[in-house]
Amino acid sequence: MTSTARAHSWSSLRPLFCLLALFGSAGPAGAGDIPLVKIGLRVGAPEVGIESGGGWAVGRLHTGLRPTRVGAAWRFSSRGEGIQVWDETGRLRGNVADTLFAFPLDPEHPLRLDERAYRGELLLFSNGDGIVVVNVIDLESYVAGVVPLEIGAQPPPRAEAIKAQAVAARSYTLAQLRRWAGRGFDLLSTVDDQAYGGVDAEAAWCTKATEATRGVVAVDGDRRPIVAFYSSTCGGHSAEPSEVWGKPGAPYLKGIRDKTKRVSDSFCSISPRYNWTEIWEGSAFEEMLDRSLPNQVASWNREKYGRLRSMEVASRGPSKRVSRLVLEFERGTVELGGDAIRWAIRRPNGEALRSCMLTDIAVDRSDGRVVRVGIKGRGFGHGVGLCQFGAMGMSEHGYDYRDILRFYYRGSDVLRFY
Ligand SMILES: [Zn+2]
Repeated sequence: MTSTARAHSWSSLRPLFCLLALFGSAGPAGAGDIPLVKIGLRVGAPEVGIESGGGWAVGRLHTGLRPTRVGAAWRFSSRGEGIQVWDETGRLRGNVADTLFAFPLDPEHPLRLDERAYRGELLLFSNGDGIVVVNVIDLESYVAGVVPLEIGAQPPPRAEAIKAQAVAARSYTLAQLRRWAGRGFDLLSTVDDQAYGGVDAEAAWCTKATEATRGVVAVDGDRRPIVAFYSSTCGGHSAEPSEVWGKPGAPYLKGIRDKTKRVSDSFCSISPRYNWTEIWEGSAFEEMLDRSLPNQVASWNREKYGRLRSMEVASRGPSKRVSRLVLEFERGTVELGGDAIRWAIRRPNGEALRSCMLTDIAVDRSDGRVVRVGIKGRGFGHGVGLCQFGAMGMSEHGYDYRDILRFYYRGSDVLRFY
């Protein structure tokens, strides 16, 4: 790409040095500094658009500090192993195999990627299938863009729960840095890691909670950040990782009863998903199985197994989540366990079942055919680690965010890292 700006001020632009300092060495910065993280916003996109109301600049990362000053929206499209750069007039400005970096000239006007604003800077490169866009951002701004999407803006009595969520998100991030290093970033911006929505997702209450816990991290016995899993509603007892994912987890992820002597019912009993019921017409349930079950049980197909006859719980784990659910068909049985149940048995609206803590199952049959299926259950999400509605309940009962974190992550402690 050719430079259209004079070089006089570029060397004084701090964002450039953040990027150059970071590249190839993602991770916590020096003592006192806020770590920078790399969040994958797009992976293999055919095309993206970038702009900023305050002007922005784009340059090649590896071939010298010669960014091009831009005042309007540019587009970047995937072509083979490279990226084509199109300016606001539709003119092709370059065909780049290198990594591109983009930063706002005025931090008050963050970059907008496809019309969503993100603080910090962006890296763009091709992964062969399309464009990868990575947001390079300080950990505190990142957490402020995660918390509202993960726990929602909550009223003041739940402020300690929001702080606990901020610390959990910060801890998870530090524990999982370089998780996707082979793909050029640390974490994904989806629920595969943590939902992150940039500036547009930020909410005042959540930003306040993030700032109130600046640099605070939940740690294990060796003072390492914990992999702080969390989910919406544990249903009264959090899950062992082995119950839902079939593999053991760290000691601080032990399943616990979600109450103390201070309350008569579970902390998360305030959740609208504490108890739930799903009902399917028999034919709709069978059609749902046709679509979802082969993804979990590769050997299953309708022709071979025939119609459903019954569905029963064969065993449960320590938290009463279902560890063996037996589906009996005309010509064979299938077993499901843990979170695989949620992906195999879809709600009538197509979403995953809310949890695998199933409390009651009814399969009504008439003339040899299933006419109606009902499932009752508790909770929402995998149930491992912090229970978000439980944290809100604890907050309302006077516990502070440190109490909440130590309650859900047994044996962990809370430290200020920076
Ligand atoms: Zn709970």
